[in-house]
This record gives sequence, structure tokens and C-alpha cells, in this order.
Amino acid sequence: MISLGIEGTAHSIGVGIIQDFKGKCHVLSNLIKTYTPEKGGIHPREAANYHAAHIADLISDSVKKANLNFSDIDLVSFSQGPGLGPCLRTAATAARALALTLDKPIMGTNHCVAHLEIGKGTIDECTDPVLLYVSGANTQVIAFAEGKYRVFGETLDVGIGNCLDKFGRTVGIKFPCGPKIEEMAKKGERYLNLPYSIKGMDIAFSGLLTAAEHFFHKGNKLEDICFSIQETTFAALTEVTERAMAHTEKNEVLLGGGVASNTRLREMVNIMAQEREASFFVPSQRLCLDNGAMIAWLGFLMYENGIRMSIEESVINQRFRTDMVDVTWRG
Ligand code: AMP
Ligand code: MG
Repeated sequence: MISLGIEGTAHSIGVGIIQDFKGKCHVLSNLIKTYTPEKGGIHPREAANYHAAHIADLISDSVKKANLNFSDIDLVSFSQGPGLGPCLRTAATAARALALTLDKPIMGTNHCVAHLEIGKGTIDECTDPVLLYVSGANTQVIAFAEGKYRVFGETLDVGIGNCLDKFGRTVGIKFPCGPKIEEMAKKGERYLNLPYSIKGMDIAFSGLLTAAEHFFHKGNKLEDICFSIQETTFAALTEVTERAMAHTEKNEVLLGGGVASNTRLREMVNIMAQEREASFFVPSQRLCLDNGAMIAWLGFLMYENGIRMSIEESVINQRFRTDMVDVTWRG
């Protein structure tokens, strides 16, 4: 089956095409374009306008890149939520138009679950992981337990990526700030004491953000602050992930989301995995980002396992929780 997926939850608009082969996912094309605000954070309406301006070309280019014709597409999937309303609506509208034009089925998918399934779908040894999903807006530790993908821990305030971006904005770094903070952190020498707040299995970053900004205004070296932010936030993320692994007795850990590019985070989670004699996986860079291929793959899994969606049911859900998904494809 050939599935085309449209991703548009936040600043990225992506179109990917996948084909299934012996239970695994083959990515035939995966194009992404990203809206970057001139200043400040993402303005939902402006991001949606950007998506609307690019979606038609992305769809045709993705079909061309995959060496296919439109008539080869069997299913049109899209990210139904969670995300920014105007962005979700733009992607969903494009998906409906395409499905109706091609006279093919449509499938709305959960964005967070797609990040997990694409790891399983593209990495052979990855079969039942605990996912540490670290993106701009989302920060969740997700695993399959008793018939559903459940959130074992999550941020109580901002996502880790947004925390890095907000700090970056305060100190004059252009969005997205994570990569620049990572570079600076490598030159950091002194650990500054930042709040480490884990509450139960959940994490909070806003106190740390305020404290880090305070250190900056007091004239501390930016490299030291970046280093301290990474060490503190990534340690907390690793701790919660490890506890979820212990609780669920799983021996695989998977990273997903834009912050998964960070080498220090990868190193910390990998050390934790080694100490537990567990396996550590990260999908390829492009599949960690918000992308259409992961949406196409999850749409395929749902369709193949009997889920159907009418156009009327394809409404978006800004607050689509990971544990609201009916997981029929995992037996
Ligand atoms: P996403 O929401 O999944 O598209 O991820 C975007 C977020 O990832 C932004 O907040 C970026 O600042 C962050 N990010 C990207 N690369 C890195 C990196 N190398 N280290 C830390 N954060 C990163
Ligand atoms: Mg994402």
C-alpha cells in the first residue's frame, strides 16, 4: 500500500510518501518546509498562511520525488492533532481536498504516536520502546501498556524545545535556538545551580528558565548557562525515561522530536540505556523532525488494521492526547 501523509501541527509543513514492505516502512519521499518567524515565537495564523502557500507544491513535488503518479496513492493521511488550530486546519483541508480529488480514503492520525511508530517502522530491532518525545511544544515519555499508548511523564508547563527557544530569545539567539545553545554548551566550563524539578513522573521547566535568565542578567558566561541548562533539563528527562522503563519493564528506548538531534541528550540517554542493558534508538534526522512520512506510516497502520474515517470525522483536535488513540494495530 502507498500512503501519503501531510504534517502540519506547528511551524513545519511536510508531505511524505511511504510504502509498507514486510511490516516495515519504506520512505519514498519526505519533503519538509519550515516557517521561521522574523522575530519572537510562532504566530499560528502566520504559520498557517505559510503552510497554505507551500502545501500544493509540496504534494506534487513529493509525488514526483517518489517517482509515482497521483493515481498510485492508496491513502491520504494527515496529522489530526495535537497542535496549533490554524496550522492543523490548513493541513487537514489539503488532505480532504486531495482525498476527495483522488477518490481515496482519508485518515487522521495522532502526531505524538506517529513519532513513536516511525521509529518502530524504520528501525529493525526497535519493537516495543519507551519513547522520549522531545520537541518544541511537546515533551512526553510514552510507552505501550495495556492496549494503549500511555503518557508516563510529561512537562507540566513548556516543552523542552520551547524552553530552549525562550531562553535563546531572551539572550538574542535567533529561532530555532536549540542548535546554537548546544554549540555554546560545549564551551561551558562551570555548572550553575538550576532548579531540577520533577514532580512524580512529570517535569517542569519554567522555574529553570527564569533562573537561567536571571543568571544571564547577572552577567554570567552564556556558555556556562547553556551548559547548565542542558545538563539539568536533560538529566531530568533521562531520569523520568529511566523510571518509565523500569516500571514498564521495557528494554528499548527511542528518541523523537527536534531536540533528539542534540548530541548531549543522546549521550545521556544512551548511557542510561547501557547501564540498564537496554537498546537505544534514534530514527534518522529527518524522521525525528515533524515530517509527513511518519504521518503516512501511522495512517497506513491504522487503515490496515480496520480503522476507517469519513470526511465528516476528519475534524482536527488541538488537544488530541496520546492516550485517546485506539491502538488496534498492536494486538
Ligand atoms: P520540533 O517541534 O519537533 O520540530 O522541534 C523543534 C525544536 O527542536 C525547537 O525548539 C528547536 O530549538 C529544537 N532543536 C533543534 N535542534 C536542536 C538541538 N541540536 N539541540 C536542542 N534542541 C534542538
Ligand atoms: Mg513533533
